[in-house]
Amino acid sequence: MSFKAKKIAVLGAGLSGVLVAKKLFQNGHEVSIIDPGIFLTSEKKKEIWNLESFSRSKLSAIDIDVQKNVRHRYQKKLPLAIGGLAEFYQAVSIPFHEKEFSSWPISKSDLDPFYKQAQEWMNIKPSHEHGNISPLAKKLYHAGKELHKDPYYHPIAIDFSTCRHCSICNQVPCPWDARFSPSLLLQELQTQGIRVLDRSLVTAATMKQGKILNIKVTNLENQKESTIDTDEVIVCAGALNTPFIIKNIFSCDFNHIGKNLMLHLLGNVIGFFPKPITSKDHFEKWVSFSSDYFDSNGKVRGIIQQDQMTGPQRILEYIPGTFPKSLFTKIYDQLTQLLVIVDDESCFENQVYEKNGKICVQYQDQKKDLEKRAFLLKQAKKIIKKSGALATITTHGKSIFHACGTCRMGVNSLDSVVNFEGRVHDRDNLWIADASTFNSSGGVNPSLTIAANALRIADRI
Ligand SMILES: Cc1cc2nc3c(=O)[nH]c(=O)nc-3n(C[C@H](O)[C@H](O)[C@H](O)COP(=O)(O)OP(=O)(O)OC[C@H]3O[C@@H](n4cnc5c(N)ncnc54)[C@H](O)[C@@H]3O)c2cc1C
Ligand code: SF4
Repeated sequence: MSFKAKKIAVLGAGLSGVLVAKKLFQNGHEVSIIDPGIFLTSEKKKEIWNLESFSRSKLSAIDIDVQKNVRHRYQKKLPLAIGGLAEFYQAVSIPFHEKEFSSWPISKSDLDPFYKQAQEWMNIKPSHEHGNISPLAKKLYHAGKELHKDPYYHPIAIDFSTCRHCSICNQVPCPWDARFSPSLLLQELQTQGIRVLDRSLVTAATMKQGKILNIKVTNLENQKESTIDTDEVIVCAGALNTPFIIKNIFSCDFNHIGKNLMLHLLGNVIGFFPKPITSKDHFEKWVSFSSDYFDSNGKVRGIIQQDQMTGPQRILEYIPGTFPKSLFTKIYDQLTQLLVIVDDESCFENQVYEKNGKICVQYQDQKKDLEKRAFLLKQAKKIIKKSGALATITTHGKSIFHACGTCRMGVNSLDSVVNFEGRVHDRDNLWIADASTFNSSGGVNPSLTIAANALRIADRI
């Protein structure tokens, strides 16, 4: 059969969108990528980095409304930027275990070739192959070893030959592009021929019998409108936005759109050490501990991971109200922390919905997940104490940074939103390739699986 290049529109230039665009472009298609965010140039990244936290940055952002009765300390704004959340992430890149796919219509072996490709494209290597492990990471590793907690130096998408080891590597873009950056990759792809429409939003679509013929795009800077003819449309706007695009622009109205939101239940144990152990000029997220990953019934619980302290100022945001905050900036270099990431179970009622044009998150922590977190935090405390901590504080994370699951995969529009290939049910040429297609959240950081799944879906188009 002779190959016919297609006109393909990718909506969203985050981690999944940029990798999908690269794959389709390599496969010979004509690709346009559309995103309301700004292009993060090196200058812009430096500006944001100097402000230390994107909540205080000048980036435009999506407002998120969170129901008061649930997790109300969520970040209320997410940045709109080319590159998406991966411009602000910490680059830990661990594949899911095969058991995590039990609720998916595909198995890990379907993803394996794409895991490999994503690792190559994102320059992911085990952290000890990348750089010089810090003395603190070694201390934690050895404590974990003595406690039989199966420590290992996890894979990471940072090039430590250019990393400057700044005091924060979390919630800020890397101005030195040491961390994998979708926006940097997209700049390269743009020079090769991919069409990039930044600060642009798809506002409508012309459809005929379930097939999209073209999309209307508005430039947010000058309000100019254009029409793009398209053979295929792939939505990659992230799990909090994608449900509304397929509902409002492409008129899909299935029961599962926006439902089954998963966020990962997070928690931290902060340890206080007798002497300084955290240097302000060392990256500190090298090691994970996997012995408690499964419970006694073989169900996924989650992972314990070394966590970068957030900088002397931002640490205050994490300290519970009753503690004397000024003390923490003084003893900052005597503190370090471990993070726990809990695989939260999919629950139909946990969801994103729209009210007055604003995205609202409704999420109730499940009892089973809270138990898993309590267990992992207890183990994390043992590791940090074994490393020499005199005292510990436990905090509970409230982030929406790992959102997934709002357009899950399945058989038909009654049980899901897309089929196993990522194609939206009852639509000929509409696809979703971001974290919203996940059927489980997994017990580890999600980006590598998002990348692999996006490449798999792109390969089917
Ligand atoms: C501080 C932080 C630390 C993290 N650390 C890690 C880590 O160490 N390891 C890990 O695996 N994961 C980590 N993550 C999570 C990871 O970054 C995300 O899971 C991942 O980037 C999500 O990818 P995505 O492609 O689904 O969506 P995104 O990357 O969020 O991309 C969505 C894109 O869609 C665009 N968009 C929004 N609305 C629209 C619209 N209406 N139309 C078109 N485009 C739209 C956005 O501008 C954005 O570019 C972290 C996240 C954060 C914020
Ligand atoms: S620690 Fe390294 S990778 Fe992280 S922001 Fe700083 S320079 Fe970039």
